[in-house]
Amino acid sequence: MNEFGIPHISTGDAFRLAIKQGTPVGVKAKEYIDQGLLVPDDVTIGIVEERLQQSDCEKGFLLDGFPRTLSQAEALDDILSRMNTSLDHVINLKVDRDKLLARLTGRRICKSCGSTYHVIFNPPKQEGICDKCGGELYQRSDDNEESVGIRLDEYINKTAPLLTFYENKGLLRQIDGDQEIDAVSAQIASLLRG
Ligand SMILES: [Zn+2]
Repeated sequence: MNEFGIPHISTGDAFRLAIKQGTPVGVKAKEYIDQGLLVPDDVTIGIVEERLQQSDCEKGFLLDGFPRTLSQAEALDDILSRMNTSLDHVINLKVDRDKLLARLTGRRICKSCGSTYHVIFNPPKQEGICDKCGGELYQRSDDNEESVGIRLDEYINKTAPLLTFYENKGLLRQIDGDQEIDAVSAQIASLLRG
């Protein structure tokens, strides 16, 4: 979201960094992520609160991958009200389960810069090599079909209720996630421009 000058905050990236650094939280988180399970709320919420208090979030922020449960959403409300701010939009990218499975199992990530690719939908120019930095691409340990299936079941059980939660607050914006990446980005940008 460079156009808007606000940070894109992915809890996934924050956890991967912690895992790479082998911090106590990282080690704990890895056990859950490897099994395709959600990381416990108290760990995730602490990371998000710290991140939102940094100065680059003063003009706004984009949260990606958080909240994933109702209790996380309620904790986020508490954090934001302590900061005298609130959410403007909650964006739901709608994609069918079969298509999600295909997408997630084809995902590849650069070891050096963290850029993401997809073997079918967004392949690098040279197989296994990052276009941006020449780094080696790898598949996340939880991007195999079994872990992804478990993750999708977790989503249905724990995350889908958030749609109702945010719809009742008048914040939910539905976007068709089954389009080219550029088209999805353009729709989100136009929504944020209001
Ligand atoms: Zn790279």
